[in-house]
Amino acid sequence: MELDKHVEKILWTEQQIFQRVSELASEITQDFTPQTKAPAIVGVATGAFLFLADLVRKIQLPISVDFIRADSYGSGTVSDGNPRIPFDLKVDVEGKHVILVEDIVDTGSTLSCLIDHIKSKGASSISVCTLLDKPARRKVHFELVGKGKYYCGFECPDYFVVGYGMDFAELYRNLPYVGVLKPEIYS
Ligand code: 5GP
Ligand code: MG
Ligand code: MG
Repeated sequence: MELDKHVEKILWTEQQIFQRVSELASEITQDFTPQTKAPAIVGVATGAFLFLADLVRKIQLPISVDFIRADSYGSGTVSDGNPRIPFDLKVDVEGKHVILVEDIVDTGSTLSCLIDHIKSKGASSISVCTLLDKPARRKVHFELVGKGKYYCGFECPDYFVVGYGMDFAELYRNLPYVGVLKPEIYS
């Protein structure tokens, strides 16, 4: 079956994403222009890879780009213990303004763990830029660091979405839009 035929519904088209990513990049450019230090952009692997790639190309500032990975506990478990970070930063973020780039914020546990981790490395501020946010499902509260800001592309209804970096069982990350799969594919 051709890839598009696996999709039940498109929530955000390529064009809508392009437009919103441009807006977010302009906001970030404006907000960080007064800073003397180059911000460190940190993508959360793997889901943020396309969003990160599109976003950084539109930020009009010198920035560093790096990736980090966090393995959260199985579903339903709150990661207030010791979440694993199997893939850590290469860039030294001490004294830097870090912008964590995520595909989607759901329970908040991944971000909470990553913020604590990056804070312990001495970042002077931590902002978050997420393509999607599902506020209805938040379980873990996270706090930005310093004068960190929260940037969000779109508020996401409570569906399991795929595409533009986001997977179902490691597939569908290459869809250029964000959508919902047909029920028979999830089951
Ligand atoms: P949290 O730790 O906030 O519960 O979840 C964060 C991670 O879970 C996201 O970065 C993403 O990888 C995954 N996730 C949460 N909701 C969805 C969704 O609707 N679709 C996909 N593909 N992944 C999701
Ligand atoms: Mg993610
Ligand atoms: Mg995933």
